[in-house]
Amino acid sequence: MLIQLQRRPRFNLLEGPTPIQRLTRLEQVLGCGGCPPIYVKRDDLTGIGGGGNKLRKLEFLIGEALDQGCDTFITTGARQSNHARLSAAAAARAGLSCELVLTDTVTRDDEAYQRNGNVLLDDLFGATVRRRTADVDALAVAQERAVHLFAKGHRAYVVGSGGSSPLGCLGYAVCAEEIMAQEHDLGLRFHRIIVPNGSSGTHAGLAAGLKAAGDEPGRIESFTVLAPIEKARTVTTELAVRTLALIDPASEFVEGDIVVTDGQLGEGYGVPTDAMFEAVRLVARSEGLLLDPVYGGKAFAGLIAAIREGRWRKGEPVLFVMTGGLPGLFAYEPAFRRD
Ligand SMILES: *Cc1c(COP(=O)(O)O)cnc(C)c1O
Repeated sequence: MLIQLQRRPRFNLLEGPTPIQRLTRLEQVLGCGGCPPIYVKRDDLTGIGGGGNKLRKLEFLIGEALDQGCDTFITTGARQSNHARLSAAAAARAGLSCELVLTDTVTRDDEAYQRNGNVLLDDLFGATVRRRTADVDALAVAQERAVHLFAKGHRAYVVGSGGSSPLGCLGYAVCAEEIMAQEHDLGLRFHRIIVPNGSSGTHAGLAAGLKAAGDEPGRIESFTVLAPIEKARTVTTELAVRTLALIDPASEFVEGDIVVTDGQLGEGYGVPTDAMFEAVRLVARSEGLLLDPVYGGKAFAGLIAAIREGRWRKGEPVLFVMTGGLPGLFAYEPAFRRD
């Protein structure tokens, strides 16, 4: 599998494997004698731009953009999109112009949400931001911009929200191999690998990577934080199939390979839940680690709930993939206020 991936153009944005760490203090605080060992994979520590999971996808996306001779990178997202922010950072690193089409998908109109966090950073990285209302098809706007730029002698690379094209998902297929190598070094096997599910590319890529390596993608479990559960399952499965086709066309997913779980979405994408606030505070206070309010906080709340319900067995380690998104905490400062 690695051999095939290496033939694809890839722009280096990571500094090698991200660490896997055990959260022993959190295990104590959760206080369950029957807790499974809890580990985190620190994909929040990736290279540039404040870090996060999107850099793994961007290694392949920017790689292809450069290979095609593009001079501009265009993508879409919600106003506080981490993917948009990391696209801006990666484009800057690659010497590409960056345009972002950001929609008001989340109905927060306070100063912090509208100006702080990722919005501040998009500007620092030099991206051009086009703001649109929630009903606008951002990808269509992005494609129109590409046509417009082409007429002026430029060449733009366009990718949709989350960078979750099958090519982008290859970044997480590589991560699956990385996790397997780290399991080998640690001398253990994770019975569950927990990830947040937004545009589904992280889960889809990991699933394709494990499948292609002859491992079990069914040990990955994602919590949807964006789409309603049925849609999240459909999108994740379709994306996983298309990603697997890029690396191992002979291989096929079977029933039980794609596990997407509901219960942490609350009122919708970007809308805080009490369980999210608890998870963010608990992990910060017990481990000094930061989860974000839109993705990691909700997915980790799902992990805490599963442990409290005794869904996972004592000796069977679980891995939570920390996907970054720290700037989101600053954008949600008013929501975290307790007065
Ligand atoms: C985008 C994002 C996710 C979700 O990843 P997808 O591949 O879109 O499912 C999780 N956490 C953070 C911080 C993100 O920015």
